[in-house]
Amino acid sequence: MAHLTLGVLEGDDIGHEIVPAAQRVAEAAARASGLEIDWRFLPIGRRALDEHGHTMPFDLLGTLETLDGWILGPIGHQAYPKVPEAVNPHPILRKNFDLFANIRPTRSFPDIGCLYDDVDLVIVRENNEGFQPDRNVVAGSGEFRPSDEMTISVRVISRTGSRKVAEAALALAQSRRRKLTVVHKNTVFKLGCGMFVEECHKAAQAFPDVEVDEVIVDTFAMKLVREPQRFDVVVTTNMFGDILTDEAAGLVGGLGMAPGLCVGRGNIAMAQATHGSAPDIAGRGIANPYAMIESTRMLLDWLGRRRGLPQAVEAAARMERGLVHAVSRPDTRTGDIRGTGGTADMERGIMDGMAAEG
Ligand code: ATP
Ligand code: MG
Repeated sequence: MAHLTLGVLEGDDIGHEIVPAAQRVAEAAARASGLEIDWRFLPIGRRALDEHGHTMPFDLLGTLETLDGWILGPIGHQAYPKVPEAVNPHPILRKNFDLFANIRPTRSFPDIGCLYDDVDLVIVRENNEGFQPDRNVVAGSGEFRPSDEMTISVRVISRTGSRKVAEAALALAQSRRRKLTVVHKNTVFKLGCGMFVEECHKAAQAFPDVEVDEVIVDTFAMKLVREPQRFDVVVTTNMFGDILTDEAAGLVGGLGMAPGLCVGRGNIAMAQATHGSAPDIAGRGIANPYAMIESTRMLLDWLGRRRGLPQAVEAAARMERGLVHAVSRPDTRTGDIRGTGGTADMERGIMDGMAAEG
């Protein structure tokens, strides 16, 4: 039987609600598709700190290394106590596994409050450089305060880092509408963004069937609102990607509809929704699980294709049918997307959709 070993890391706040939902949906889809998933439930975040004395307890990285991939819930590290054991796991995970490309799709669904009914684009955000550089490259947080009057923030762009994320975006474009838009600000960051754009064009030479264009980030922010239909795959640096993916989510119903998959060159991938841990709505059963479940669907699809497991690709297709079913009915979608249901109703709607159409 086809087999995958996946980690489940709930994270914080609404993570305790949406990650178990994602795990159950993926398990049901896998079973129905002839895929066996061995789930490893691993502590991370605030609960891990309280119960095990560290936000990344035991040999978390060593354990993750033995897995095929994992689901990471949102992390509310801003609220952690200021102790050395309360590290923010995000950058450590992304950097340790060289998950340099954060694939963040945006798509419209009818009747949920999308600004357009025909958006279908993917922003590929560089994950490990920019203003959040590797600690091995820039000491500390990458910010320095030489005097009380002034702070300097360092932005790192490397040829290799730019090339790698460009290649991931080009490969994705090849499997879609074959259009890549490079978003940058080389008019101001002549060296940094200049290098990023240069490496994108170099990488594109190996993808002659992909049409590549460039848009300056401020113009892009405007075009994304006015004519998002013209974009297919977009590649950009870390912080521009952070901001633009939230803007893109705003076009299609908000953060609950913004999934993400972190990938690198290896075979390991991490499902991670774009949104944060939403402490304002945690524990009330009203969080929208779409982004987390769709991220998990992307993980199965990606692993299935990378590892030649058609059962995982089939499980992903089953999840897609379930998600579309749930989102299209007001009683099986959450309030943020004009529904009358809660997290559990949406999970039930997805399960029903998978069973009915599977
Ligand atoms: P981060 O710094 O981790 O990105 P943030 O400060 O941007 O976090 P979020 O936690 O993403 O904040 O929440 C922003 C707003 O979006 C909050 O009002 C939250 O309730 C809402 N939100 C986020 N995720 C969801 C979700 N899955 N379902 C419903 N509402 C959500
Ligand atoms: Mg945010």
